[in-house]
Amino acid sequence: SEERSLNFIEEIVEEDIAEGKHGGRVLTRFPPEPNGYLHIGHAKSICLNFGLAKKYNGKTNLRFDDTNPTKEETEYVDSIKEDVKWLGFDWAEELYASDYFDKLYDLAVTLIKKGLAYVDDSTAEEIAAQKGTPTEPGTPNQYRSRSVEENLQLFADMKAGKYQDGDKVLRAKIDLASPNMLLRDPLMYRIKHAHHHRTGDAWCIYPMYDFAHGQSDAIEEITHSICTLEFVSHRPLYDLFIEELEIFPSKQYEFARLNMTYTVMSKRKLMQLVAENHVEGWDDPRMSTISGLRRRGYTAASIREFCDRIGVAKRENMIDFSLLEFCIREDLNKTAWRRMAVLDPIKLIITNYPEGQTETLHGENNPEVEGGDGGRDIPFSNELWIEREDFMEEPPKKFFRLGVGLMVRLKNAYIVKCEDFKKDADGNVTEIYCTYIPESKSGHDTSGINVKGTIHWVSVPHAKTAEVRLYDRLFKVEDPSSEEGDFKEYLNPESLHILPNVYIEPDLANAEQGKGYQFIRKGYFTLDKLSTADKLVFNRTVTLKDGWAV
Ligand code: ATP
Ligand code: MG
Ligand code: MG
Repeated sequence: SEERSLNFIEEIVEEDIAEGKHGGRVLTRFPPEPNGYLHIGHAKSICLNFGLAKKYNGKTNLRFDDTNPTKEETEYVDSIKEDVKWLGFDWAEELYASDYFDKLYDLAVTLIKKGLAYVDDSTAEEIAAQKGTPTEPGTPNQYRSRSVEENLQLFADMKAGKYQDGDKVLRAKIDLASPNMLLRDPLMYRIKHAHHHRTGDAWCIYPMYDFAHGQSDAIEEITHSICTLEFVSHRPLYDLFIEELEIFPSKQYEFARLNMTYTVMSKRKLMQLVAENHVEGWDDPRMSTISGLRRRGYTAASIREFCDRIGVAKRENMIDFSLLEFCIREDLNKTAWRRMAVLDPIKLIITNYPEGQTETLHGENNPEVEGGDGGRDIPFSNELWIEREDFMEEPPKKFFRLGVGLMVRLKNAYIVKCEDFKKDADGNVTEIYCTYIPESKSGHDTSGINVKGTIHWVSVPHAKTAEVRLYDRLFKVEDPSSEEGDFKEYLNPESLHILPNVYIEPDLANAEQGKGYQFIRKGYFTLDKLSTADKLVFNRTVTLKDGWAV
């Protein structure tokens, strides 16, 4: 893509390299918690972390932030790896915070020995109450003055399983009067008798985010640890633990998370949509997940381009969904093969073309590619399906399609002139009658006739059928999370529209999974993962022009 100015994180990295910090080495990490599928917001973080490493000859680790045993599953680990790879990135190492449980335990012991951590028997409510308020300092309890020896013993007993969930926690001993509430003796470890997806039942104490993330960064010698703005207030704690532990000085930098209109961007909310069957699964084509976008027909290149265009901001903002659509249109315009499909059919009969005769026409695959990117055969006959909307009984001026007396070009075929039509008892048009101009064949047109409109069509005896799924916004409002009540009240009931019997040109039976096709004048489509040779199913990725159906 085109030249752009450095973002603020690139500026920091370039300064660090210029100063020779860490020998000019750049090591970033992408740290998902394996408690759901990745969404487009994660793609932003992936592109940023892997993009920096690529630009500055560095590396990126994929680190699963798996310190919460009750929510994490191997299914999510697998999907995350698949999605990162599909987006086009290779990680240097696949790592798990849970692999550091022994080291993290030892680091906690180090802090206890320095008098900087203590075991607290208070309940969660008591701890919250003792923390004070932003304007009132917290109050120390009797556990805060426990001796190092007692703390070491109690922490070992916690690890050994002597206590029940909630009986005790390990807290950092920092400052109960700090204006930063996160520094008022934050929790480091809690007791949780739960099975972990990797460590099984080896542990019954688990570290909190603030005592796992920075330490994992340091263990891996991450140079630039990039996270979203919610963590700005955690940074003093991040730095303090690293300093007191005298471990590798990783640094945290924060950028604005991606928010996008007409969708939700939180695994918890996406999980609810799946669990309550509002969608067909994590990879439902209406979901903002990477797997959903992939199934919908989005390409990795279009998502990377989108992430590049939105840039890296320091302040929260809301990105219009139509920017993502712009990016996929641009990409598919350059790559998708053009094909014809009739979504809402009406029959057109060419009265001066011999009945039963078939002619093989040719259509290029993509006019945007030099030479047309190859082409395909298209059978033609005297009976065609065209779109109902391409005919009008009483066409207004400037209607450049069909109506009695009007002429139009059939794409890749001939010019036809509408002579007549037939209606049923209810007044619905059932057949349109045309004559064709034999000298007007595309590519060999000697007719001298100029027409303004070109329409798509499919030969009736040669047509194949497919189910076509049209999608609209998943939500009716721009920001469902900020509306009153439950975000699910704002789901768009019209977000999926199934056309069970669409006529497609025969070559579309050869459509391949993962490829985009432009159905001429109707949008970009891709085969759904559930499509079979017996029952073709296409998803509309995006319409050809901006604008929604509802
Ligand atoms: P969610 O709220 O959706 O669960 P999370 O931040 O809890 O998001 P993680 O698995 O911890 O999910 O995220 C992995 C990385 O992706 C983190 O570094 C996080 O900052 C980043 N990330 C998550 N959501 C976004 C977003 N909307 N925009 C940019 N980065 C994001
Ligand atoms: Mg997280
Ligand atoms: Mg989360």
